Parts: sequence; C-alpha cells; structure tokens
Amino acid sequence: MPALYKAEGIILRTRPLGEFDKIITLLSPDIGRIHAVARGSRRLKSSFMGKLEPSTRIRGLVARGKNLDILTQVQVIEFFPHIRRDLKSLFASAYLLELFEAFTPFQENSASQYNLLRKGLAAIQRGVDPEIVCRGCEIKLIWVSGYQPELGHCVVCEGSVETSENFSSRLGGAVCDMCSIREKNMEHFTAGARSLYNRFLKAGSGSMTGESMERENMENLDEILSSYLAGIIGRPFSASRFMKEFGR
Ligand SMILES: [Zn+2]
Repeated sequence: MPALYKAEGIILRTRPLGEFDKIITLLSPDIGRIHAVARGSRRLKSSFMGKLEPSTRIRGLVARGKNLDILTQVQVIEFFPHIRRDLKSLFASAYLLELFEAFTPFQENSASQYNLLRKGLAAIQRGVDPEIVCRGCEIKLIWVSGYQPELGHCVVCEGSVETSENFSSRLGGAVCDMCSIREKNMEHFTAGARSLYNRFLKAGSGSMTGESMERENMENLDEILSSYLAGIIGRPFSASRFMKEFGR
C-alpha cells in the first residue's frame, strides 16, 4: 500500500486512545477491515467532531504509520440519522456492526460484506423493521462468507432430510431423524422457519417488509441463526443480547 491512501468505508467501532485520540475500525469494500487513528478527535474543537460515529459511512485519507495508520481527512458520505433517533434501530445497527466486524477479514477485499452492511443500514434508515433487516443480513452474510449450512441432506449420513426438522449448529446443517437419535444438542428448525430462511435468501437484504411472516417462524429462525453464528465465531454477540432484552 502507498504511503497515503484513500479509504471509503463504514465505521464499525471506535475506541479511545490516550487522552485525545480515537482508534477507528473501518470496513472498506476494497481493503476490508482496517484500523486507523484519528488524532485529536476527542478534543472539543476537533475537525472530526460528529463525523466518526459508528455506522457512519465516510471517505478519508489515510497515512501509513509505523504501528497504526493515521486518518487525516474525513468526509461524511452517509450519516443514517434515523438509526440514532430510534432505540430499536440503534440496537439493531450496533448488532450488525459487531456481526460484520467478526465476519470480515483484516485488510482483504470485502466488497460483498461491505455492500450487504451498507444496504442493511440504509434499509433501517428507510424504516424497514430492524429485526427483518438483521435476519436478512445474517443469512446473506453467512452465504457471502462461505459458511452456508447444509440443508439439502443429512450432514451425518447424507440421507434425506425431507421430513426432518432436526438441525445441528455444531455439525453445520440438517440431521435426519435416524441420526438425530445418536447426536447430541439437536436443535429444532421448523419447516415454516426454513421456508422463511429461503425467502430471505432469495430477497435482497432489507427488501422484505414483514408481511405474512408468522411470529413463531421468525422466532425459530432467530434462535437457529443465533446459535449457528455463535458457533462460527466461537462466542455469542453482546449486541444481540441487548436487542433481546429490549423486547424487540
Ligand atoms: Zn442421517
């Protein structure tokens, strides 16, 4: 990378550094996840003021540093104000930022993940139900990252799973009735939730509106995806817990 480079991206996270600085984690389409220091950004009269909030889409100039790169100029491209005015939207976007941070490689092309997150945040901004946006983003993110579960046949014996509603996050897919007797920690992925999963997969993230989505199918899909994603990453997501406690 040259000594100075342009970076466009969505701010995933910020954390304080020293007395006046912040480290910004940015998800950029072409260079993936990067960290850069915004010097003096916590000073009252900083030119960065109000520009470095999580979920904001920015364009910046970054100078290569010895240890950490330095963010020198920032222009806000999209701010998503509605996300900050509505608590449910705020929790949902916080969850998406945490999820995408966990799923994007460091300094590697992440155009698919970036576009997905950008569309998801834009959908929340437009007023699409944040819960629907989150499910859509989760399902698409699993696919673009190459972690899709096997739902076509049993992950143990490769037999038919047509009549089975058994699912194993640990094994990565559907399990037939015979194998489910021997396997531990079986989850119940209902036929209704599976068909909802397929609808999300075909639709764009945030293009679904919630019509004809039964509550019990949404809840089952949420449970399956939570445990499946936590299995991939190796831990549950703190932001998703907040969302649940908020009652949605
Ligand atoms: Zn089997």
